[in-house]
Amino acid sequence: MGQTCEVIVDIAHANVDRLYSYIVPDGMLVFVGSHVLVPFGSGNRQREGFVIRVMEAVEPTADHDENQPSPVALKPLLRVIEPYPILTPEQIELAYWMQKSYYCLLVDALRLMIPAQLRGSKVKERIDKTIQLAKPEEIEDQLHSLLDKSGKPRSPKQYEVLETLKACGLEMTVSDVLAYVPESRSAISALVKRGYMVEGGHVTFRRPNISALLPDKQVTLNDAQKSAVDAITRAMEAKSGTLLLHGVTGSGKTEVYMHAIEHCLAAGRQAIMLVPEISLTPQTVGLFQERFSDGIAVLHSRLSAGERFDEWRRIRLGKARVAVGARSAVFAPMQNVGLIIVDEEHEGSYQSETVPRYGALDVASYRAKQFGAPMLLGSATPSLLSYYRARSGRYQLLELPGRVQNRPLPVVEIIDMRQEFQAGNNGIFSGKLAQYLSECLKNSQQAMLFINRRGYSTFVSCRNCGHVVQCDDCDISMTHHKGENRLRCHFCGAVKPLPTVCPACGKPFIKYFGIGTEQVEEALHDLFPSAVTLRMDTDTIRTKDTMQQMLGTFARGEAQFLVGTQMIAKGHDFPNVTLVGVVAADSTLMIPDYRSTERTFQLLTQVAGRAGRDESPGRVVIQTYSPAHPAIRYAREHDYKSFYAYELEQRKKAVFPPFSLFVRILFSSDNETTLHAEVTAYAEQLKLALDERLGKEGERDILLYSASPAPIKRKQRAYRYQILIKLLRTARLSSAIQTIYTFAGDHRNELFAMVEVNPQDML
Ligand code: ADP
Ligand code: ZN
Repeated sequence: MGQTCEVIVDIAHANVDRLYSYIVPDGMLVFVGSHVLVPFGSGNRQREGFVIRVMEAVEPTADHDENQPSPVALKPLLRVIEPYPILTPEQIELAYWMQKSYYCLLVDALRLMIPAQLRGSKVKERIDKTIQLAKPEEIEDQLHSLLDKSGKPRSPKQYEVLETLKACGLEMTVSDVLAYVPESRSAISALVKRGYMVEGGHVTFRRPNISALLPDKQVTLNDAQKSAVDAITRAMEAKSGTLLLHGVTGSGKTEVYMHAIEHCLAAGRQAIMLVPEISLTPQTVGLFQERFSDGIAVLHSRLSAGERFDEWRRIRLGKARVAVGARSAVFAPMQNVGLIIVDEEHEGSYQSETVPRYGALDVASYRAKQFGAPMLLGSATPSLLSYYRARSGRYQLLELPGRVQNRPLPVVEIIDMRQEFQAGNNGIFSGKLAQYLSECLKNSQQAMLFINRRGYSTFVSCRNCGHVVQCDDCDISMTHHKGENRLRCHFCGAVKPLPTVCPACGKPFIKYFGIGTEQVEEALHDLFPSAVTLRMDTDTIRTKDTMQQMLGTFARGEAQFLVGTQMIAKGHDFPNVTLVGVVAADSTLMIPDYRSTERTFQLLTQVAGRAGRDESPGRVVIQTYSPAHPAIRYAREHDYKSFYAYELEQRKKAVFPPFSLFVRILFSSDNETTLHAEVTAYAEQLKLALDERLGKEGERDILLYSASPAPIKRKQRAYRYQILIKLLRTARLSSAIQTIYTFAGDHRNELFAMVEVNPQDML
């Protein structure tokens, strides 16, 4: 008797998120991880599925267990979709772990591990069609047979194609032949029909167009870099450990990563390197491409469907041994991982904001353990949590205390914008910044200006009554986009015409406040009409190539100024940038979140790090209304350790993470009245469940338990309420989280609740 197998069907629904048994028809090659087509449900609809287990079927015995369905009742698989298993055993194991840890559907976890386009066969591998001579030894006779009595070819195209192949002597792709002999498609078919040529084909991989902006420098590691690489190599030999590489901006962390990867490859193993989506610039990727050539595969959101599919397959088929990518690259289908690197480990984008809401660092840590590989976290501004773990010995701390070649860190000047105002300057640039910008131009150097808002003005309000123009569907002020000449909601994209009178009081005293990238660009143009300014934000970077083009333009020195949002804060290494300006440092401080100090410090440090990365020293100007704020003061001193000590103390006092953990359950509905009532009832029941599970002792673990409207109460027409729970980190923490997830799962059908552990934003 043949095999049976267990399949999870590719339908994201709790009711069918389990294994179904099928018979493997004789002669069908099925493996764990195979992508298969199965008949499903009473109507036997064709569905895709993933094979999770393969079993040798047992002969039915006379006294077989009544409770077991007899194998005869099973349906057979219809077919196998790809010839190789698309999931590895480790990925399946990981999916089970995610199902348990994030309380998600198994199929949702599995879907993360394969390119979306593979499901439903939306992309196919690309085959380059080729032709070659069928009988090269008869070529002269064949050519002769194409001539008429007068010695002229009867079909000139056929003759030409045959001659081309003769001259080449090898197999040629059809597209090459068409380039030599235009419009020869039917001639080619005719020659194949005659039996003069045979067709063939090769699978080709569509690769993203990567080119390094700057040539790869061969550098000799300095002592600090060397000892970091040694420590990583030792951890690779020991097959375990988490290391935190703390190095100031420009200290050569990327070189450390690349050397560590070289050691990993030399040991015959593979490496995964995660970088934030935002710093997956052509620059970073190009550097890795230069160093590891086609040994790398790149995974990020700006790839075309075909490229993504092919990069994934190059990894799966073992052609690429280094995967470089954003968050989701942590699922790269590798089978022999020797090192996982997470660059800029403090970045919020490592936390997924869509179901399943996984943390890429947690997944990386699990995968590293699976393979016996160390995990290397790196940052100039480690997250408080990671640094805390390094200090308490859970992670091994590696430090690169200075910039390479003893280059100085840039001098940071803080400008108090209140004083500027009192001195009569109400422009965007302080006197100092304007002066430095002009010096920069004079010296043929470049400057970057950072502002974390796009658009022209960030809110529009009435001077008479104070009314702020909001989106009709969201609780958020609308941004003025001067280029489009209208207002736009940054949540839902809704637009409104510019108001001429106040929509509330009807008076014509409309005023625009708050600076965005467009306004900075305009101010630069007014001040320096002859200089070229580039603006980089999500409005100007629409396609996958525009970012590369713009960075290329800047790298070649064809523009003097680069204005941008977060997009310009990270990863860029432009040797000629000697001035960095932070136009308004306060906007991130204002965000009501316990992490806003930490985030502002990180952002300022990163932005400042773009200056003076080459021989010429750098200068940084931070404009702010709160010059005394610790985030700004410590960033000026480039003093991570003092910042850490200060901020940890604050967190300890308020029992904020890392001493506690937030869980937020978000609800949304169009009807506020019922939502309010339902969330209140939900909160009461959940509290009972928690009390029961945690017991008397656990009561003190719950530091905060509130049910209320979310800070942004309305988003895209829906009302939003939340239950916010702050839990002390004790041994009972995971039971508490389990209880919350289980409760949400059990009440899934009554009210849509989204559970977020350690949410990245609490708005
Ligand atoms: P980080 O990632 O820490 O900000 P990078 O790795 O980008 O720093 O290094 C900054 C610059 O210094 C890069 O241009 C890099 O090529 C160069 N660099 C790195 N290590 C060395 C070294 N040992 N000697 C000389 N230049 C180096
Ligand atoms: Zn809106």
